Amino acid sequence: MHEFPITEQIIKIASEKAKENNARSITRITLVVGEQSGFIGESIQMYFDIISKDTLCEGAVLEMENIKAKWYCPDCNIHYARQPFSFACPDCGNDGMPTNIGKEFYVKDIEIETE
Ligand SMILES: [Zn+2]
Repeated sequence: MHEFPITEQIIKIASEKAKENNARSITRITLVVGEQSGFIGESIQMYFDIISKDTLCEGAVLEMENIKAKWYCPDCNIHYARQPFSFACPDCGNDGMPTNIGKEFYVKDIEIETE
């Protein structure tokens, strides 16, 4: 459910950028969505299709770059994707620590069409 306001926000940002550039329409919006961002790409897509109607974003392709969450092992100095039910480092077996990798959520790129 909380994807609704964030999708409105994305459309607002994209529309403002399009207006600044005198664009006729927006063709593509690229989002970076981390696995741990708390946002679900499919829900954003669903809301996007509804909210973008009659805006400059209507018909734009919503592209999502998904980022896997990574953990960090200070002993081995490596980042790794953890296995289900385990926090263990694949090299030494000690529990690693969470990082900010995978918490990303932002608009990376907006493609517009001008005439
Ligand atoms: Zn390790």
